[in-house]
Amino acid sequence: LALHEANPICFYNAEMQQKAEFQSRIESLQQGALSRKEFEVWYQPKYDLATRKCIGAEALVRWRSRELGFLMPGQFIPRFESNGFITQLDFYMLTHVMETVKERRTTGLPIVPVSVNQSRLHMQEKNYLAYMQRLKTYYGAEDIELELTETAFDFDTPEMREHALHVMHELHEMGFRLSIDDFGSGYSDLTILNAIPLDVMKIDRSLLLAANGAKRMQAVLARMIDLGHALGMTVICEGIETREQEEMLRSYGCDHGQGYLYGKPMPEAEFSSFLEQHI
Ligand code: C2E
Ligand code: CA
Ligand code: CA
Ligand code: CA
Repeated sequence: LALHEANPICFYNAEMQQKAEFQSRIESLQQGALSRKEFEVWYQPKYDLATRKCIGAEALVRWRSRELGFLMPGQFIPRFESNGFITQLDFYMLTHVMETVKERRTTGLPIVPVSVNQSRLHMQEKNYLAYMQRLKTYYGAEDIELELTETAFDFDTPEMREHALHVMHELHEMGFRLSIDDFGSGYSDLTILNAIPLDVMKIDRSLLLAANGAKRMQAVLARMIDLGHALGMTVICEGIETREQEEMLRSYGCDHGQGYLYGKPMPEAEFSSFLEQHI
């Protein structure tokens, strides 16, 4: 009899400890991994639902660790969010993407707008805007979209809210496109839809799943797309895996889609050839 079968509490503790050890391992390796360029920028295509052409991409991080192997964001992002390292990683990702887009523009390769995830932690960082201004001056904000998750808009204090709104207005002023990510996944303060110059509404995959065969949720999804349009936003839905989902979203007037139906996240070189064929 294995120990955990005899004593479930013991098993639970062992598993907890393993997880805790993995997490502190991650933390001890993070800085070295960044300087050794172990973090990779992968790209997932975004499609126009009407023309079925690739019209953009989202940059997603992958970690090819010498010590830990190949890691998905779910394994390390939560830790980086809690220890603050995420801001460094996000800057690394963003800088790489802006550099790549600029390089492709200069060499005449096909370009689509690329979105990059930005942690909510940036909003309260002193040097964020100055750094973004420098990036913009150096590479240009053209074709760069910043994805801010819905939860980035839960503010602890009115001062934090004011500051974050200021930051977002400034980013928009600089020419970055702003997208509200995972929309519909939480309980957001809808007044932010009026307080922030948002260009894109990105509907969370959970809503698409909930609408599967459920009339009432289909109505919610359809009205959400209308809401985005009424506010002048481009609407994209994530997590499209089937033609049926695509067809439903198209019938509701959704502009763009992202999901395995069109392509999984892929390394940069692979996305570059993908683009040649699907643009
Ligand atoms: P997200 O921003 O919501 O990104 C979409 C996630 O859904 C990606 O997971 C993507 O691979 C997955 N996905 C896309 N299409 C489908 C589909 O059709 N079906 C299913 N089941 N899943 C799909 P991934 O790459 O594992 O990233 C997970 C999350 O990690 C992201 O969720 C994002 O919140 C975070 N993340 C990734 N890269 C970064 C980054 O550079 N910075 C920050 N701050 N967060 C990041
Ligand atoms: Ca995202
Ligand atoms: Ca999501
Ligand atoms: Ca998302």
